[in-house]
Amino acid sequence: MTEKSSVVDLRSDTVTQPSRGMREAMMSAPLGDDVFSADPSVNALQEKIAALLGFEAALFVPTGTQSNLCGILSHCGRGDEYIVGQQAHCYRWEGGGAAVFGSVQPQPLDHAPDGTLPLAQIEASIKPDDAHFARTRLLALENTLGGKLLPFDYVQAATALARRKGVQSHLDGARLFNAATAQAALTDSSDVRAEARRIAQCFDSVSVCFSKGLGAPIGSALVGSRDFIARAHRIRKMAGGGMRQAGLLAAAAAYALDQHVDRLADDHALAVRLAHGLQGIEGLTVETPHTNIVFVDLTGAAQSRSAELLAQLNAQGILATGLYRLRFVTHLDVDAAGVDRAVAAIRAFFKA
Ligand SMILES: *Cc1c(COP(=O)(O)O)cnc(C)c1O
Repeated sequence: MTEKSSVVDLRSDTVTQPSRGMREAMMSAPLGDDVFSADPSVNALQEKIAALLGFEAALFVPTGTQSNLCGILSHCGRGDEYIVGQQAHCYRWEGGGAAVFGSVQPQPLDHAPDGTLPLAQIEASIKPDDAHFARTRLLALENTLGGKLLPFDYVQAATALARRKGVQSHLDGARLFNAATAQAALTDSSDVRAEARRIAQCFDSVSVCFSKGLGAPIGSALVGSRDFIARAHRIRKMAGGGMRQAGLLAAAAAYALDQHVDRLADDHALAVRLAHGLQGIEGLTVETPHTNIVFVDLTGAAQSRSAELLAQLNAQGILATGLYRLRFVTHLDVDAAGVDRAVAAIRAFFKA
């Protein structure tokens, strides 16, 4: 799309439409049957993302949920346990899939306000080798978590702790490139890919989504060692994720990696623009975002008006989600004019 649509859709970065260039890349992709490992576009994407993040191998999967599932089940067997945050997508928002399909027991921990799982809590929750306990096999972190960048020294320390204890580590990096973009800005680096690799290299496996801020219609990838990916490949088949001419989708993902990584900083700037625009309205508490997600808490009398606010915005073609905590997500189909329209509409609502 060359023109932003008149609807300002701030519900999620998953709502993007494939751009013209992306559609052209999809239509011209060479295809084969990926269940025979014979789709050249899938193979190329897998090699590309593995190399980009510094891993031996990668697996293209339809969704981030399936990617995390293949990852957790590839690390853990029945009766094993993984340490995970209460707010983590793979624990809270994926239907308990690791427990349902893999008999893998989660050990959820509370997050500190910055989104981290405190190291002392991680260490205390790693069980000794004793028949009473599930075997602690895996630490799963998420970055970004609710749009927050985990401090890099924390990521290093937590994964080093896991390694020291013989525990594997998995990153749900659905928005890894948003994290890398924010981290690059903090470190005055202009190389988002290098930052993504630096984060990813702390872990034994990483899942990344192409269908969030990167703007592809469908698809995620899991990266890890060759053995790990071979196990994940079996699990993907069992989960029904063996797709045939999937190169059509892989081509969109490859296009996104080439064209849409360096523009994520624009989404982050728009999120800050939105947050700043909303600051100072009575009854709203607005955090300045690290990346592309703005949370707005409604307090006091404003709380009872959230449904009314969302309905009024909706009537003006401005879409968002939430209840007492509204969520606005910027992405490649939102521009500054759209953000300004949203700010003006919200300001007008609270003046009335
Ligand atoms: C969206 C998301 C997923 C899952 O992706 P789907 O493709 O919707 O299954 C996993 N983890 C995080 C952090 C996400 O934001």
